[in-house]
Amino acid sequence: MGESTIQNWNDKRKVLFYANNLDIYGIKMDKHKQISAFSLSGWLQWLVPIVLVIAIKIFSYFPEWVESIYSIKLYPVLAHIQRLLFGWVSISIGDLIYGVFVGYLLVLLSKFILSIVRKKFDWNNFWKRFLSTLKVLLWLFIIFNILWGLNYERRGITAQLNLKNTTYTDKELKDFLCDVTDQLNRARTELGDSNYVYPKERDMFGMATEAYQSVKIQYPFLRYTNASVKPSILTEMVSYAGYSGYYNPFTGEAQVNTDLPHFYIPFVTCHEMAHQLGYASESEASFVGYLAAMHSPHPLFRYSALFEVFLIANSELLQRDFWSGILNLRSLNPLVKRDRRIFREFILGRQNNVEPIIKNVYDQYLKANRQRSGINSYNELVGWVIDYRRKTGKL
Ligand SMILES: [Zn+2]
Repeated sequence: MGESTIQNWNDKRKVLFYANNLDIYGIKMDKHKQISAFSLSGWLQWLVPIVLVIAIKIFSYFPEWVESIYSIKLYPVLAHIQRLLFGWVSISIGDLIYGVFVGYLLVLLSKFILSIVRKKFDWNNFWKRFLSTLKVLLWLFIIFNILWGLNYERRGITAQLNLKNTTYTDKELKDFLCDVTDQLNRARTELGDSNYVYPKERDMFGMATEAYQSVKIQYPFLRYTNASVKPSILTEMVSYAGYSGYYNPFTGEAQVNTDLPHFYIPFVTCHEMAHQLGYASESEASFVGYLAAMHSPHPLFRYSALFEVFLIANSELLQRDFWSGILNLRSLNPLVKRDRRIFREFILGRQNNVEPIIKNVYDQYLKANRQRSGINSYNELVGWVIDYRRKTGKL
């Protein structure tokens, strides 16, 4: 009698475990915990996200649609609302959310390890958690794409400005660098001597908004409203990982690593704001950031953008024609040379073993988002600036 009760109790527990697991698959149990029917709500919990993921994937194969329906119409409204919600808070809400999320993952991981060490690992429980995590990941993918990610598939700034010929000869690169070096030196002279005091970071963020107000006059699609640019809370970590800024697609905030040399912050800010405008690819964000900074009334912004373009273009020239590249470096204004040294020391001072791993992860992420050249897509910037100058004869 006693034995059979225990037996019954154990059976019931088994059935209950089984029932809980089946519920995740959408199989409905009746009150005696028997399989009675497939529960509609359980199935929908899987069906809805899976259908949405497939729909997003199919939609992303049509860049024309993405551009005209998503990037031009839907995305600006969503981004405007995000910046309205979080822009007024002075600290980065996105960084706080990331912090809490990482903390939560660490707690889960330690619980998992502890359960193995204490030999209390329960496959049923593990499987249940695995499936619910998978469901959360599906929704994260959907939300990420709706809030921003689809912009990776748009036609983008090159189509908007009709930039087609992005290859350039050695001579074109040399002529281009000759102009850029000249402009760079002049912009530095406009800033004054070595005692020049840089504006505070938050003032620079405000000046970046002004830059976008200027560029919008010529290109209305670069209209930027409700600024939401913030210093990164995770500055030390971000520097260690080798990043100058990042965009949070879930909150619409742009974070700038304020640890950077001051003269580089204006360009990075304009680059991150371009991400906020829906230019997801790195090279496009740099190109749009460059356009905005070059339209700024502040010489610091033009200096910052020209500094970036000079570094990238000249490193290309050093590979094609080493001595011409060296000559360019020699013809820099002494104050630009000093800034280049500061920049080099900043980069070298933060080099570590973790950085290449993180860069590799980001490279894979970009490639997963069909950015064929991955992290090297930063370098497409030079080709676009050259073609833009060919067309407009200025900047
Ligand atoms: Zn970027």
